[in-house]
Amino acid sequence: MDNNIYKFTGNPFVDAGIWSICEWVKKGNPEDLDKSDLKRISGDIVPLYLTDNWGKNIFSIFPNNPITNPSVKDKKIRYSDYLNEVIEDIDRIPSNKSGNCIACGRRNVGDIRTKSEIPLIGSGKLINFFPSGQSGGDYCPACTFAVQFSPLVLYKCGKLLLVHSNSDKIMRSWSKKAIKEVRRQILMKDYAGCFNEDFTNPRNALFQIIESMIREYDEKWFNENPSINLYHFTNYNQGPDLDMYHIPTPVFRFLAYVKLHERYNDWKKIVKKGYWVNWDKVKEENDYKNKTNSVYDNLLKNRSIVKYFINTKNKGVIGDWELFTFYLKEVRKMDEKRLETLKRVGDELSEYVKIRDDIKRLNDLEMAGNYNSFRNVLRKIVKDRIKSNADKPLFSLEEYVKDLFPDGNLGWRETQDLLLFRIYENLHDWLKSKRLPENEDEEALSDDKT
Ligand SMILES: [Zn+2]
Repeated sequence: MDNNIYKFTGNPFVDAGIWSICEWVKKGNPEDLDKSDLKRISGDIVPLYLTDNWGKNIFSIFPNNPITNPSVKDKKIRYSDYLNEVIEDIDRIPSNKSGNCIACGRRNVGDIRTKSEIPLIGSGKLINFFPSGQSGGDYCPACTFAVQFSPLVLYKCGKLLLVHSNSDKIMRSWSKKAIKEVRRQILMKDYAGCFNEDFTNPRNALFQIIESMIREYDEKWFNENPSINLYHFTNYNQGPDLDMYHIPTPVFRFLAYVKLHERYNDWKKIVKKGYWVNWDKVKEENDYKNKTNSVYDNLLKNRSIVKYFINTKNKGVIGDWELFTFYLKEVRKMDEKRLETLKRVGDELSEYVKIRDDIKRLNDLEMAGNYNSFRNVLRKIVKDRIKSNADKPLFSLEEYVKDLFPDGNLGWRETQDLLLFRIYENLHDWLKSKRLPENEDEEALSDDKT
């Protein structure tokens, strides 16, 4: 037997609750939590849950529990009694090296738990995935108790978002931020409900959560390699539902670094370019913050966002080669050798266009709409260079296969954008002097949204 009430479990709802309790009683380590801490958070939080807005949120987290059940008269007494009974059960059923609780595996189950106590497990007639068709879930009293306080760190976004990470830094920063808001509400008597920044688009909310965490908490995020999952759910009686989102670790590391980058404002422009919105009609943040954002969506789906760094219409770039290659290395996992080749070939192509004053060839590079036509333009340039006795070939066969088109037909579009980025960056002043039609507003052009 060990004496700890809590250790982290890997179960997102239980861990969220444990972080809430730790943060509420200001203990950094779950193993330091004792019975008096559980009593304290019960006493403090039950009155909060009884307020209107919290009650509404609780309704879609724990339907039919004493707080949300209209037929229950003495809600405060009933729910407090319930929590006290669970605390007594924690004493009665000691933790051990092993137990049959499906969340912690350290303590045995007493009562079978229902969806009024643990979200998304169904119960009664709504049996989702219980073994042997039993009418509830195998959660021990300690895990059940913790889950009761998970709402304190949930984020309202249409449904609710639950943040879960293997990184203590992430979880600590997030619970600090959420609990700070709960304390503010209690202090100001402004009981607004779960943390809410008027997001309804969960993917955008997820980036907001991560970026605000990185911004507000002065941690060495760059050394952190977290796995972060977000669960967007409702346990509403009429239609429980769950969607999951995963932030790739390289994307997190990139976001952590980019806020320190001197070109951070350019990164913000790139993100803005991702919104599907008519910027002429935007007056305030609320007009776009919940619109689909292809930059965010592509980052989540592990797709390239290279095209958002360039603007083919006015032959310009956002950011510089350094910011661009940091993204390519960190998120796209491109190796140094490949980037060197792309840079050199981009430089040679820039020279070629400038010396020959050949905007048409540049247009051909831009306009090529498939792998074959793009290769064809490169072939023509190679021929021209041979005719004019260039010192070195534009690229070797090895560079062509390994660095320019490693995925052949599949990745050619990204290679096109990579080369165009370098050319536009090099020829910025020269292209300007050619008096290309000025682009009115770079941010108003949101390219094609594929
Ligand atoms: Zn447990």
